[in-house]
Amino acid sequence: MKIIQKGNKATNSSSRDGHVPIAIVDHISGGTMSSMDAWFTSTGNVQSSAHFGVSKSGEIHQYVSIERKAWANGLSIANISKATAAIIKEHPKTNPNNYTVSIEHEGTDGALTEAQFVATVWLHKYISDEVKRIYGKPIALDERHVIGHFQVDPKRKPYCPGPKFPWSRLYNALITKEADEVKKDVVVSVLVNGKKVADGVADEGVTYTPARAVAEALGAKVDYDAKTKTMTITSKGDK
Ligand SMILES: [Zn+2]
Repeated sequence: MKIIQKGNKATNSSSRDGHVPIAIVDHISGGTMSSMDAWFTSTGNVQSSAHFGVSKSGEIHQYVSIERKAWANGLSIANISKATAAIIKEHPKTNPNNYTVSIEHEGTDGALTEAQFVATVWLHKYISDEVKRIYGKPIALDERHVIGHFQVDPKRKPYCPGPKFPWSRLYNALITKEADEVKKDVVVSVLVNGKKVADGVADEGVTYTPARAVAEALGAKVDYDAKTKTMTITSKGDK
């Protein structure tokens, strides 16, 4: 995946004022990708911006650096208590833009194309990794830290990112990816009579390792019949 830089001098952004990004907010753009690009780079726009946009074709555009604040989830102090997301309520005196990273999605009702879904899963992970690289701590990719605009501003933005946004599929994809990485890391050394003969992968109590390497190290004879897809291991004592 690659990120296409689209922001320009007219793109709205400001300092995070010392705040660290701790949440990702998902949005729907309500229009096409080209209109999003045009609006976020227009000198006539003095009210909004987002860090990223994801098109229906799976393209990722960036308008604002993660280290800067985008103008996507602004709330007056009085309206912060009306948010439904716990992470917003817990910061009653801070504009949510200070500690969030925002992703716009091309579309109107929250339904994402397959390419768009794959791109946004990748982007959520990328943002978490970048935040870890820059600030030392990743954004946790769970329901508490990945939220919709409607949870920030239920009064004015009840349909952002929309009723068809695939929340459970997104959370599952973000969690599965991390679980898969953990699984891949469990590599074990397989020793026969004190000598390493192969690597193995441990998965829920079963170790997967090349049978031939282990059998031959034990002095057995190994035959493989490709036709019947049968491996025959014969120990010395059975001859
Ligand atoms: Zn929104």
